[in-house]
Amino acid sequence: MCDHHAKVKVQLEQMKSFGEDGGKEGVDAEEEPLAASSPPASVSPEPCSITTACRDASNTCKHRGKSRGKVGKEDKSSCGRHTLQGSAPPAHVGKNLNRPGTLHIQGTGKILQGKSETNGNYVNIQPSKNIQEARREDGFKLAKKRRPVTVDTAKAKTSLEALKLSIKQLKWKEFPLGRRTACDIYWHGVSFHDNENIVSGQVNKFPGMIEMLRKINLSRAVRTMQELFPEEYDFYPRSWILPEEYQQFCTQSCGPLEHMIELIRMVKENDATVNLTFIVKPDGGSQGDGIYLIRDPSELKVMPSSQAKQAVVQEYIQRPLLIDKLKFDIRLYVLIKSLEPLEIYIAKEGLTRFCTEPYQEPSQKNLSRVFMHLTNYSLNVHSGNFVHSDSQSTGSKRTLSSVLYRLAAKGVDIKKVWSDIIALVIKTVIAVVPELKVYYQSDIPPGKPGPTCFQILGFDILLMKNLKPVLLEVNSNPSMRIEHEQEVAPGVFEYVPSPVDEEVKVGVIRDTLRLMDPGHKKPSISQPRAGGFEHGEEIPMDAETQEKSLDEGSLPSLCLKQVYPKYTKQFNYLRLVERIGALFIRFLGVKGNMRLGPTAFRTFIRTCKLSNSNFTMASVDILYIDITRRWSGAMPDSREAGMGLQAFVEAFFYLAGRRFKSLPLRQQVASLLELCEAQLESQSSVEDRRSVSCSRAMPRAVKTLGLTNPQLNSPAPLRRAASQDYRLHQRLRPRTLRANVEN
Ligand code: ADP
Repeated sequence: MCDHHAKVKVQLEQMKSFGEDGGKEGVDAEEEPLAASSPPASVSPEPCSITTACRDASNTCKHRGKSRGKVGKEDKSSCGRHTLQGSAPPAHVGKNLNRPGTLHIQGTGKILQGKSETNGNYVNIQPSKNIQEARREDGFKLAKKRRPVTVDTAKAKTSLEALKLSIKQLKWKEFPLGRRTACDIYWHGVSFHDNENIVSGQVNKFPGMIEMLRKINLSRAVRTMQELFPEEYDFYPRSWILPEEYQQFCTQSCGPLEHMIELIRMVKENDATVNLTFIVKPDGGSQGDGIYLIRDPSELKVMPSSQAKQAVVQEYIQRPLLIDKLKFDIRLYVLIKSLEPLEIYIAKEGLTRFCTEPYQEPSQKNLSRVFMHLTNYSLNVHSGNFVHSDSQSTGSKRTLSSVLYRLAAKGVDIKKVWSDIIALVIKTVIAVVPELKVYYQSDIPPGKPGPTCFQILGFDILLMKNLKPVLLEVNSNPSMRIEHEQEVAPGVFEYVPSPVDEEVKVGVIRDTLRLMDPGHKKPSISQPRAGGFEHGEEIPMDAETQEKSLDEGSLPSLCLKQVYPKYTKQFNYLRLVERIGALFIRFLGVKGNMRLGPTAFRTFIRTCKLSNSNFTMASVDILYIDITRRWSGAMPDSREAGMGLQAFVEAFFYLAGRRFKSLPLRQQVASLLELCEAQLESQSSVEDRRSVSCSRAMPRAVKTLGLTNPQLNSPAPLRRAASQDYRLHQRLRPRTLRANVEN
């Protein structure tokens, strides 16, 4: 056996869930296609057959029979037992077993009964009476110990099916029609506002997430980070917002200087393609709707003057990594467990979606071939070439692990790919968190009763031929359907179970619920890692056992892996805009506001001592008017007057540039932040000293509230100014919004 193959074999043996190592970098998977269904030999020493008992048919089959056509027959495979032939259990199967005779498949709720033989094969057996009895006793003790967690699923929409399965596996209690009294968890299908009357518990959506992740807002947030950290944020393609940046797009995309710079960059990146291609995506679009490719700005369908049709135009990645000559992208599920403190988890299993027509680099002839260029499932499912498959490693939708195995077997350094993907996710979340916090305090102001939030996001990631991951977009409502539409007869479509979707999505929902379990003793948040987060650093992909609570008995280990705060030390320096956001929120002053009025802006300048004889308060007012006017033009649908966070960040950059002229932007901003924070700190301590002397006479409850509510903690003059500002806002705000504003 040659050295390389021996190395691959050893590495694959070490891989637990995804595989963690590989050999050389930059191998094109297309060059030497592997047999799609052959998992690495070391992972599956013997071909075997696993039989999994189907879940309770009575509960799920009625949902599955949803049919668009007249075929009313239910798919028997969905309700019987399904057998995965030839897909052997990965090496990690069987880890963390709690009892003999139980086999857990990582990331799924599937539990196999049986025992391992010495040859590694698995033999199905019935659990012995003793085990059954022990289990019953366990359950009884458990039931006595704590009441089941309650979940309101009335608004779950298309995620209902996967949610029901998850709740069942956890033995929690579902309220499909809602509940008069409060539930522990509310599962919404679309937005935080699906149900307006929640004052406690936890909701699976953050306010403002949909808005934040629209294509334009995401591009803006990432671009702000690119200004500060160009190298760290080079995973997002160059983008322009239309129509407002039409002129820049024209000059930067085809201007002679830019063209030369672009050419040099591409040659450096080993990409000698001369003609650039761009992809135009309507803002707020999804599932590939309205997307088209162009090679010249004159081909834009969006009229430069029309405000109605906003879109993002983006550099098209011309050389994606191919498998079987097909372009594919990765759907990765990411849980934001909390904003404060920031906690991010990544699902160790994801999906890959394949195009259905062999890829060719864009040319004038093939620009409109959507099955070649767009990986959207919703588009490709309508191609005659779409392959529905029960196997997770074949067909047009596959598991991420099966693709990574395949790349590893070809010598790709998947450990590096995976660490690059983790870094991309953390950096993207860091880019959107500042504005999310503004939305959050507006909907759930501190001190007001309200639920806490968490959310599963869908990251769409493309691997370039050189294996660099590129962020395409982030979905605030990734599809959690576990069925897919299939044409069962000409023109007749039916929803049939999709084993690949079920495998991945039920694991993600169930483990999200486990992490959000209100009775779950908060696990010791894994220690931030010391040292660098270097490419090639070993990324543990197996179970994070410390996240497992003791009473979870027979559940598999978590398929969600904490990446933040785990890697705080490596990424915390990127959180500069969040600190600007904290200043912004502090000076908003009034609960429910999302925009800063002119008085509050002046107060910010005065409090932080940013004006002087060279920069008078008159200049401050001009700056405010100038920037606010420009941003209100850029955001025509904005309903509130005043300065939003993005405009405030622009003003802050300007102020930082004035103050620290000789430094690069990042240091300018960091220095100004330090200055502002120091000013506020010194004022707060003066304020604190004053309030200590006053508080001797104050009742205890008032003191406590003051400490927990930053608004009440702000210096008295600030609060006064803020409320004057608020009155101005009241005049400017449209009538419909006023009702929601707290006084
Ligand atoms: P939508 O929300 O409509 O799905 P996406 O941004 O995900 O919009 O784009 C749709 C598809 O277009 C992606 O799945 C991907 O296949 C392709 N795509 C998007 N952006 C790029 C890009 N910059 N380079 C290459 N392909 C892209």
